[in-house]
Amino acid sequence: MSTIAFLNIAMRGHVNPTLPVVAELVRRGHSVTYHTSPAFAKEIEATGATVHRYPESDRPLPDPPTPVTLLDALARTALDVLPAVLSELRRVRPDLIVHGSTCPWGAVAARELGVPAASSFTTFAFNRHTPSPTHASRELLTAAATSPRNVRSYTRSRWELYRRYDTRGLPLHDWANIRQPLNLVYTSSAFQPGAGTFDASYRFVGPSIGARPPDPSFPADHLRAPVLYASLGTLIDSGRLLRDFAVGLAPLGGTVIISTGHTDPAALGPLPANVLARRFLPQLEVLERAALFVTHGGMNSVNEAMYAGVPMLVVPHAADQPLVARRVAELGVGLSIRPQDAAAEAVHALARRLLDEPRFKAAAATLQVAQREAGGYLRAADELERRLRRFTRATRPGLADSPRER
Ligand code: UDP
Repeated sequence: MSTIAFLNIAMRGHVNPTLPVVAELVRRGHSVTYHTSPAFAKEIEATGATVHRYPESDRPLPDPPTPVTLLDALARTALDVLPAVLSELRRVRPDLIVHGSTCPWGAVAARELGVPAASSFTTFAFNRHTPSPTHASRELLTAAATSPRNVRSYTRSRWELYRRYDTRGLPLHDWANIRQPLNLVYTSSAFQPGAGTFDASYRFVGPSIGARPPDPSFPADHLRAPVLYASLGTLIDSGRLLRDFAVGLAPLGGTVIISTGHTDPAALGPLPANVLARRFLPQLEVLERAALFVTHGGMNSVNEAMYAGVPMLVVPHAADQPLVARRVAELGVGLSIRPQDAAAEAVHALARRLLDEPRFKAAAATLQVAQREAGGYLRAADELERRLRRFTRATRPGLADSPRER
């Protein structure tokens, strides 16, 4: 059995899909370590992995991150955490490093230790046809021009990284797209735009959805159909929008469920009687019962909704969300509206169309099949084991031959 080290950034959307993969690897007898921030330590420990907490962790990421502020935060974090991460990994002696596609210190650690690596894409996979939010573009230049302090700070940290460590293979700035010889992409090839333009190192394993801790306080048995669900994910703070969702959806729903995330539910003011607003909800359980999902277009939320066959109204804010929203609309699984246009009346009108026009439910059913057939966390674990076997065979010929490889 092998030792596998996971490294990731402190964002729920990036951590969540890795949890079932880690649990599965542990179940198969591998020893797994996970570098994370204290906020995720308990959940990761529950998978059976050994948690290593980042020193000075929980450096707040910009909220919501723009590409330039994100790059600056990542580069400074990389410099902060690498000394401790490297000394811990030298003790752990991993056979394989799996890092988030936005986790530069994971890629640097693999180089420094000479360990094979895999990258974990919780957004889309990116290339020329589907450019990443941090690739060289007019938008990135415009963002840079409005944040000169972040650009200067990033340049300084990037240079320091280059000076202190082996940064070969790490892109100059396209850090939402850090690739490896194996790239796990947690969506189906049906949802990935231009899936056919990616080489074989990309494996579209689909949403990685495993068991999550139960929430006994969630009144699953008391919901009335149709259940309409709205969430802006775990990073966006917009009481105004959440209130508009509640007011716009209430006349259409049996029960309307709002995940308020950063926003205190009390800050939404008095809400219609059929609205249940909480900071955090068991989203998979809610989606299983939902007829409609109003979402910010976070990739995990959208993947989970398609996995449950639920049409969406996407209200994209930043990062990859506009791209996700476009793809949802293109495939007919939902509609999209800009946050500034999403007043209660507009949300109401679009939600009504999504509920009334059968084509949305039909497209969601088609995507549901693709998302389920992609393989999920079991396939992700298979792919990682295959990478381990390939590397072992290359360095120790004669070992680790397996009938599944032939
Ligand atoms: N989530 C949840 N309950 C909530 C809100 C979010 O379980 O009340 C989970 C959701 O299932 C998803 C993740 O948090 O897996 C959010 O990731 P996503 O990429 O959608 O958005 P982000 O929060 O990263 O913007």
